[in-house]
Amino acid sequence: MDEIHVDNLEVFAHHGVFAQEKEKGQPFYVNLVLYTDTRRAGQQDELTRSTHYGEVCHLVTKWMQEHTYDLIETVAETVAEQVLLTYPLVQALDVEIRKPQAPIGLPFESVSVKIHRGWHRAYVALGSNLGDREKYLQMGVEAMKERKDIRLQKVSSFRQTAPYGGVAQEDFLNGVMELRTLLTPQELLDYLHEVEQRAERKREIHWGPRTLDLDILLYDDLVMDSEHLTIPHVDMQNRDFVLGPLVEIASWVRHPVLRMTMGQLYERLISGATAAEAAADSARQSGRIIR
Ligand code: ATP
Ligand code: CA
Ligand code: CA
Repeated sequence: MDEIHVDNLEVFAHHGVFAQEKEKGQPFYVNLVLYTDTRRAGQQDELTRSTHYGEVCHLVTKWMQEHTYDLIETVAETVAEQVLLTYPLVQALDVEIRKPQAPIGLPFESVSVKIHRGWHRAYVALGSNLGDREKYLQMGVEAMKERKDIRLQKVSSFRQTAPYGGVAQEDFLNGVMELRTLLTPQELLDYLHEVEQRAERKREIHWGPRTLDLDILLYDDLVMDSEHLTIPHVDMQNRDFVLGPLVEIASWVRHPVLRMTMGQLYERLISGATAAEAAADSARQSGRIIR
């Protein structure tokens, strides 16, 4: 990715834990690296195809002067968010906030906080098999439009499927959606849980009936396991009601562990199922019993 750098933008502002810092103010220095694609702007010599770094500097200065935070961590975090929300061509950025006059009481040159933030692409599965299933899936989709740090990109069609996991219940309606988000995986999961709660989901039987189920399938190329979150979703490659809709909106996206595209995984699942059925048929015909 190409980079646009801003070095040591000086901003006089009022951030700090101490009352005196808030009153008197002090200079802060901002370093920015904007990760963006500059090729079209470079070829066409056209500012509208790039990100106007002058405007970015004014936005950052205004933001830092109109707000007062205790921590430079918060200054960096909010500056990063403002730039990412305002400039669509910026995929990610580094923000460093330096505070050379921080009240430390010892000789030092500077203190700073540096963070990297950016947009992530996530795929989320939607499922419902209780009540007005389409309404619940639609609620799940609409909830993604409510926040500025989530941008809904694509939604698959919804399809009906027989329940999974051996619990007797109504058919499911399933779909998937593609999001761009500034949220971390855990923050995204928390929000999905909040939306499930709004749909009055009760967690009773695992794989049992539910008004709305929202699972994170993929998040960039991230591979992670924690107590509450496994990405990629651990069973997605075995579910036609996940892979089918994914093929509609993301057939070229590659599973970061299995190294196969969604299209390939779907083919494999379908042909595997067909092969298993064929094997069962021929076994039945030859009088053998298989289980
Ligand atoms: P399955 O995950 O097999 O589809 P489920 O969706 O019915 O089953 P839930 O009861 O909805 O399971 O979720 C149980 C827990 O799974 C959640 O509280 C969450 O902490 C955890 N979990 C782990 N990985 C994921 C993921 N990728 N997406 C959503 N939840 C996850
Ligand atoms: Ca699920
Ligand atoms: Ca779930």
